[in-house]
Amino acid sequence: MKIRGLKGAAFSLVELLVTIAIIGVLAALVTSGLGRAKSAGRATVCRNNLRQTYFALALYVSDFRAYPPAQAVFDLVVHREGIDLHPLIWYGALGVYSGIDPRIFVCPQEVTFLRPGLSMSGSDGKPHSVLPAQMMTAFLNYGYNATGSGIFGAGSNLGLGEGQGDRRAVGEQLVLNPSDMIAFGDGKGLVISPVQADENPPERHNSKASLGFCDGHVETQTPRKWCEKSETARSRWNNDHLPHL
Ligand SMILES: [Zn+2]
Repeated sequence: MKIRGLKGAAFSLVELLVTIAIIGVLAALVTSGLGRAKSAGRATVCRNNLRQTYFALALYVSDFRAYPPAQAVFDLVVHREGIDLHPLIWYGALGVYSGIDPRIFVCPQEVTFLRPGLSMSGSDGKPHSVLPAQMMTAFLNYGYNATGSGIFGAGSNLGLGEGQGDRRAVGEQLVLNPSDMIAFGDGKGLVISPVQADENPPERHNSKASLGFCDGHVETQTPRKWCEKSETARSRWNNDHLPHL
């Protein structure tokens, strides 16, 4: 047997470089695996949030016999658990009404905390001071199916209700197929819609978005699928379960 001397046992430069390269590859594999696991975990938390939000919605609907409008008629800011709940806006109304943990209204994949005194970029790219209502809209990262296939602000009564001005809330009986009616989910602001120019629901969980339905179940698919201009896809946005193409 050949016994190598001290000189033979030392690493050559090539061996060292190969070892470093292998360690690098292994580290990259572990890191990307962890990244995937983290993002899968966030997607699970998101779906769970939407199921919890449904419980608040069900409580609200059973008492009021109507769905909360996207924007309510009263205005009051409530601070709880370090998160601002704004009953003017649908999720604030649900949270304040049901007393549910407000953290369920935040998708963990894209958390933006804005506080009074901070500023956000305006459409001109310059920082603007944040008014409370705008702050809440910026913070909110779940949207409400307020208008179905209609346009927000145009008086659409196809979704679960806009609630602006004297527009009335959508009664429980108006939603003809709750198990196939989108209620809320991953969104960029106050509302989600299949007809908006910018993608909303957005690509958030591995290029997909999770939406909750009026019966409490949650589905995850690409925004393109959610917003597809087909009878099946569009019917799910409208309370009369018709596509309104
Ligand atoms: Zn999400």
